[in-house]
Amino acid sequence: MSVVGIDLGNLQSVISVARNRGIDVICNEVSNRATPSLVSFGVQQRYLGEAAKTQEVSNYKNTVGSLKRLAGRTLSDPDLQEFEKKFIAGELVDVDGQVGVKVNYLGESQSFSNVQLLAMYLSKLKEITANEINGPVSDCVITVPGWFTEVQRRAIMSASQIAGLNCLRLVNDLTAAALGYGITKTDLPEDKPRTVAFVDVGHSDYSVAIVSFVKGQLTVRGSAFDKHFGGRNFDAVIAEHLATEFKEKFKIDVYTNQKALLRLMVASERCKKVLSANPQAPVNIESIMDDRDVQTIVNRTDFEEWAAPLFTRTEDTLRKALENAGLTVEDIDAVEMVGGSTRIPAIKTTISNFFGKPISTTLNQDEAVSRGAALQCAMLSPVFKVRDFRVGDICSHPIKLEWTKSPEDEDTEIVVFDNNNSIPSTKMLTFHRSEPFTLEAKYAVPEALPRGINPWLGQYTIKDVKPASNGEPAQIKVKVRLNIHGIMSVESAHTVEEKVVEEEVTNKDGEKETKKTKKLVKTGDLTIVSGTTSLPHNLVDQYTEKESQMVATDKLIMATEAAKNSLEEYGYDMRDKIVGPLSEYIDASVKDKFVEDLNTVVDWIYDEGYDQPKSVYVEKLDALKAVGTPVVERYREAEERPRAANSLREA
Ligand code: ATP
Ligand code: MG
Repeated sequence: MSVVGIDLGNLQSVISVARNRGIDVICNEVSNRATPSLVSFGVQQRYLGEAAKTQEVSNYKNTVGSLKRLAGRTLSDPDLQEFEKKFIAGELVDVDGQVGVKVNYLGESQSFSNVQLLAMYLSKLKEITANEINGPVSDCVITVPGWFTEVQRRAIMSASQIAGLNCLRLVNDLTAAALGYGITKTDLPEDKPRTVAFVDVGHSDYSVAIVSFVKGQLTVRGSAFDKHFGGRNFDAVIAEHLATEFKEKFKIDVYTNQKALLRLMVASERCKKVLSANPQAPVNIESIMDDRDVQTIVNRTDFEEWAAPLFTRTEDTLRKALENAGLTVEDIDAVEMVGGSTRIPAIKTTISNFFGKPISTTLNQDEAVSRGAALQCAMLSPVFKVRDFRVGDICSHPIKLEWTKSPEDEDTEIVVFDNNNSIPSTKMLTFHRSEPFTLEAKYAVPEALPRGINPWLGQYTIKDVKPASNGEPAQIKVKVRLNIHGIMSVESAHTVEEKVVEEEVTNKDGEKETKKTKKLVKTGDLTIVSGTTSLPHNLVDQYTEKESQMVATDKLIMATEAAKNSLEEYGYDMRDKIVGPLSEYIDASVKDKFVEDLNTVVDWIYDEGYDQPKSVYVEKLDALKAVGTPVVERYREAEERPRAANSLREA
C-alpha cells in the first residue's frame, strides 16, 4: 500500500513517500524534485507536468496552469476574471456549471472542467509515484491552503477520485508543515507550549499559521491568509518595469503580443530569482517580438523599490494571524518559513523584523509541506507505524445552520462551527418538531470568503418526523460533522423521548436497590435527504471514463513512438552490422535484398512512415527480424564456440 503526500502547488507540486527509513521526496521523470503544475494538449496526446512545461511558450494556447486556483470555481467568479485570466491563455468557459478551459485537443476544440484538468495532473503525479515505488499508488494525503472553502475542497477530492487516488485527508498546507516540525522535534515542552509562526509565501498565495506545540501534540491557534499574494506578484512588478523600459529603449510593446508577454514573464521570474542571491541580474530575451532581441540589467535595489508596497503588505497577514490567535509578537518562540518566495531577501527581513527574531531553519522550505503530508498519510494508513502525534487543526470559515422558525424555536440559525473550531469536530443539536424540516448550511461570514464563492454549503431535509407518543412535538437530535477534510455534513438524526427507566443503584448503606429515573432514550432513526456542493456521482463517473480513455490514448501514442524508435534503431544498427561483423554469417543470396530492405525502412520512417499506427511499425520490425535474428544467432554461436573450447581446456 502506498503512503504518499502531495503538496499541490499552483506553480509546482512536490511528492513524498513514506518508507521504512523515513520520508523521501521523490524525483520525476527528468529527476526534478518538483513537477510543474501544468497540463497541455496536442494533436495526438496530452502532455502533463514536465512535458507540458516544455510547451509552455510554444503551445501556450493549449497549456493550462493555475489548476489549483480554478478548483471549484464558476465561470462568473470575479477572482478568475480579474486575476487568473491573465495567467491562462486558453478561453475560460462553463463546463457542467463549473469553470473550464477550451483547448485544441486531438485536432478539435474541446472543453474540460477544472476538476477534469486537476484529475489529469493528479494522475500524472500518481504515475510518477508509481514508477518510483514500483507498485500501485492509491492512498495519499493532499495539501490545500487553509482558506480553501468546501466547494474547492470537494473539487480536489473529486479530481483525486477520478485520478484513482484515495485521498485519506485534505490537510492545510501549514498544518502539514507543522506536523513535520513537531514530530521531528525531540525537545518539545511537557507543559508550557512552544509557539511557532509558520509562514508560507508561495507562487500565488500567502499563509500564516500560529501553532502551539507540547510533547505529542500540535494545536493551530490561529491563521491568516493573503489569497492573492505570492511570487507571481513579484514577477509582474518586474515585467511591468521591463515592458516600460523596452518600449522606450527598443520601441516594442510586449503587451500587444501574447507570446512576447509570456517570454517577458519567464525572464522576469528568472531575474527575480537571480536577485535573491546577487545584487544585479542581467536580462536577455532573444527575439522577444518582431525579431528583436532585448537586454538590460536590473539592480536588487531597483527591484526592492518597485516591490516596496508588496513588502509592506507582507506584514498585514502576519499581524492578522497573531490577532486571530489572540497572541502578540512576544508570545512567538520561533518563526519558520516555507515556500519559494521566502527566498527573496526583503521578504525574509520583513518577516524577521516583524517578529523581532531571526528566522529558524528547521524546515526544508520547498519540501516541508509535502513531507508533512506524507507523515499524515502514514499516520492514517493501517500499514505504517508512526509515533502518535495529535494534530489539532482549525476551521477558518465559520459555518452556520438555518431553519424556518417553529413555535418551539428561539432562533432561526446557529453557528455550528465557529472560527477556529477544531477539525474534525462533531456537534449535536436539538430540535422540537412534529413534521419534517429542512436545515440549510451556509458560511456565516460571506464577506470573508474568496470572492465568487457562494456561501451556500448544503441543504438537509430530516424526513419521517412525527409527533411524540404524547402528541407533543418530537425531540430530535441532529448530528453535524466537520470532517477531517474540512467538509461539513449533517450525518444523522434521531428522535429521543423521556422515559422512566429502572436502574440498580447502591444506596448510602452500601445496599443495592432499584430506582426509577427519567432518561432520554433513542426512539428511532430519521432519514436525511441532502444536497451539497459536490459534483453529482454520474458526472464524476463520466469524467472518470473520459480520463481513462485519454490515458489509453496517451499510452497508445507512447507505445507507438516506442515501436517506431525500435524499428528505427534496429534498421540503422543492422544496416551497419550486416556489412560489418555479421557479413559472413548471412547467405549471399539474401544479403543484398536485406540491405536494401533496411535502407528502405530507415528512409520510410522519415517519409510516409513518420506517422503510422503502432502495428505497422511492429510488423515491419518483425519482418526484418525474421531475416536478421538467425544471422545474429549464427554469429553468436561462432563467437561462443572458441570460448567454450577454451574453458574446457582450462578445466
Ligand atoms: P502556491 O503555494 O502559491 O500554490 P507553489 O507551492 O507552487 O505555489 P512554491 O513552490 O512554494 O509555490 O514557490 C514558487 C514561487 O517561488 C515562484 O513564484 C518562484 O518564482 C519563487 N521562487 C523560487 N525560487 C526563488 C528564489 N530563489 N528567489 C525568489 N523567488 C523564488
Ligand atoms: Mg505551496
